[in-house]
Amino acid sequence: MIDIFNSDKEYIANTYARFPLCLVEGKGSRVKDSNGKEYIDLSTGIAVNTFGFSDDEWKNAVIEQLGKLQHTSNLYYSEPCTKLAQLLCEKTGMKKVFFSNSGAEANECAIKTARKYAADKKGSEYNTIVTLVNSFHGRTITTLAATGQDVFHKDFLPLTEGFVYANANDIDDLNAKVKENKCAAIMFECVQGEGGVLPLTKEFVEAIVKIAEENDLLVICDEVQTGNGRSGSLYAYMNYGITPDIVSTAKGLAGGLPIGATLMGEKTEKTLGASDHGSTFGGNPISCAAAVNVISRIDGELLEDVRRKSQYIIDELSCVNGVKSVCGMGLMLGIETEKEASAVIKECMDNGVLVIKAKNKVRLLPALNIPDDELKTAINVLKKACEV
Ligand SMILES: *Cc1c(COP(=O)(O)O)cnc(C)c1O
Repeated sequence: MIDIFNSDKEYIANTYARFPLCLVEGKGSRVKDSNGKEYIDLSTGIAVNTFGFSDDEWKNAVIEQLGKLQHTSNLYYSEPCTKLAQLLCEKTGMKKVFFSNSGAEANECAIKTARKYAADKKGSEYNTIVTLVNSFHGRTITTLAATGQDVFHKDFLPLTEGFVYANANDIDDLNAKVKENKCAAIMFECVQGEGGVLPLTKEFVEAIVKIAEENDLLVICDEVQTGNGRSGSLYAYMNYGITPDIVSTAKGLAGGLPIGATLMGEKTEKTLGASDHGSTFGGNPISCAAAVNVISRIDGELLEDVRRKSQYIIDELSCVNGVKSVCGMGLMLGIETEKEASAVIKECMDNGVLVIKAKNKVRLLPALNIPDDELKTAINVLKKACEV
């Protein structure tokens, strides 16, 4: 076997600070490393493996499609992506879907759609998109510009123009940013994931919708991380009772295969026309067959289970000496600990539990179907690791 740690260092671009762990196989929420040590996984490849590793039903859907064909290009009709688009529209009330391969691309499409909608309706000078301070929308030059965190910007200037940042949960600041600029849209995550698992207040989200209405702006929800059942609803915006004009999603949609989707509502369903946008791999049959399996399994019962498990985790952790606070929504939780988050993560890893970080917090993103006994075992390890 190759020396994976050294070869990785030698041949892989140096963009990731990896844990000293090579994962080789898993089943559900259990996964083994190259030494044969087993872990309970509460990270799901950053909210991607919706039903854990190599879930049987999911795997069969993928294998069945693999046996038919793997790719067609968008020059031809293809059943898996049509089926998935229909399913997404029926479950959300949105009208049209554009498929891509990642969260950043799903957001690129959302931004292009918003710019074109505003240009068609109000004039091309109405191109500013208001996003939030501490947001995360992706790593391309445009989605970096949308990301309201200077640390991500500094070495890559100039970024795409036309983004301004309002403070989260600050209605006056949002109003001011909208008034000071010629705007097309307001774009936000209902729970800022990379920013520290911070949910927006209901009052603020309602204000976004009201301000958008008053100023003829589109409402764009970035559901890349919060989407596909993770928040305890199919999409997190549903927890706030709002109807966005555009929804972007990716991570958990295909349960572990690359996909991005941009959902367009009534206002924007006709905005993009022939050759306005495209993606070679977008709507890939394998990814779409996987996503059809994932989305059709996210029903009321599963979502109730997500909310129940969420409450269990919150209740268990809140009373631990060493836990300052628990925040988030559904199975997307952030824990503020008295110890350094990295120390808690390492102790968990040593004791067979995988958790990750978001800013200064320990972040939990377990599989939506994690069995109760495995969750309990993992939370007990985590509680011990947090204790001071
Ligand atoms: C992860 C993430 C992205 C970027 O997704 P990629 O697939 O890495 O391009 C965008 N927005 C949010 C909210 C995310 O969590």
